[in-house]
Amino acid sequence: MTSQAFQDDRAHVFHSWSAQRALAPAVVVGGEGAWFWTEDDTRYLDFSSQLVNLNMGHQHPRVVAAIQEQAAALCTVAPSFGNAARSEAARLIADLAPGDLSHVFFTNGGTEANEHAVRMARLATGRHKILAAYRSYHGATTGSITLTGDPRRWPNEPAMPGVVRFFGPYPYRSPFHAESEAQESERALAHLDEVFTLEGPQTIAAVILETVVGTNGILVPPDGYLAGVRELCDRHGVLLICDEVMSGFGRCGEWFAVDRWNVAPDLITFAKGVNSGYVPLGGVVLGPRVYETFAERAYPGGLTYSGHPLACAAAVATINAMKDEGINERVRRLGEEVVRPRLAKLQERHPSVGDVRGLGLFWAIELVKDRATREMLVPYNAAGEAAKPMLEVAAACKAQGVWPFTHFNRLHVVPPCVTTEKDLSNGLDVIDDALDVADRYYTG
Ligand code: PLP
Repeated sequence: MTSQAFQDDRAHVFHSWSAQRALAPAVVVGGEGAWFWTEDDTRYLDFSSQLVNLNMGHQHPRVVAAIQEQAAALCTVAPSFGNAARSEAARLIADLAPGDLSHVFFTNGGTEANEHAVRMARLATGRHKILAAYRSYHGATTGSITLTGDPRRWPNEPAMPGVVRFFGPYPYRSPFHAESEAQESERALAHLDEVFTLEGPQTIAAVILETVVGTNGILVPPDGYLAGVRELCDRHGVLLICDEVMSGFGRCGEWFAVDRWNVAPDLITFAKGVNSGYVPLGGVVLGPRVYETFAERAYPGGLTYSGHPLACAAAVATINAMKDEGINERVRRLGEEVVRPRLAKLQERHPSVGDVRGLGLFWAIELVKDRATREMLVPYNAAGEAAKPMLEVAAACKAQGVWPFTHFNRLHVVPPCVTTEKDLSNGLDVIDDALDVADRYYTG
């Protein structure tokens, strides 16, 4: 006997990214901290933070209270009015942002933030090309899906003109045949420099990159890479847009991941962790170069819900709770003291673990069939039968009560930043067991 919620879902809900007919979504009825539970009372430890947005966990009491209080006072107001929740959220975010970033344009999520960042960069520079990385995800609306490098772009092309692609650093599968991180950084920068030259720097408005590439691999840039990109952009009057939709607000143990490398972009896009997704919110943080472009001339863009009071009140409460709970320090400690050594052990124990990498609570376990050739456990963009090994690994995690995040041949370890040390450790034990399933497909 299925529930009304399930039946209505199957009859009327059209889901993202999916062939609809065979879907059977678990119906979630509650959550607390790093845990959520379904209508049949199955409890899961959320090692995916939903879509890597639930940084403060489910039902954080301060965030829930802030939304309730704002709802009681004023649920909504048009963006042309001032509003205390929006002003405070903008001040807090601008204060946390690096360099001279000072103003926030609020959106409903990450993809809109990237759409607007690109529009701002094009108008501020008077140029049209945007350089974006192959291994990237920037959102699902027309412009952002074109910026996206991963296969979700393919069925949506042609979409936005003017996007040129480059390779970012990926030491484990170096596109530059590098043998060290330093060499990877150097060669990735030389490659980008060449793309600039071949495209004509005077035609390039911006480079957009995920500070730490998220869904497409948790690719932590080698030291020096981001500073090198910044320098290259400065040399040619090109704006640097850092997409921190996934990497920001605690995920990397920093407010913004760029803080780790002391690099200040011209524009930062954010969403997800800014309020843990309790109410949809994203935005662009911008500095003087873009601000001044629109100081006397109208910005040609807007949204009915830009700076929505409920979403902004949730952001204020989230940021204040993160500060009071020392979330960034906690995440850095858990990343270095718990996750890094545990994943190193998994790599020793399981032949199918080709690489482990990450920082904070943002980690990837990359699975291979053969360590020598680094053949992926499942092919790039595998679907159907070819994807089976990864589906089985995920099923093994779920069977033991851990909700995993998988992408291609990787298992990501991305639990909420508030996960207790004990839960974190238990979740890693479950992953340890589930990797036995991957080992069965090892052929090396
Ligand atoms: N940018 C990055 C790096 C993301 O990870 C995502 C979503 O996963 C987006 C943009 C798109 O955000 P949204 O789904 O809120 O539109």
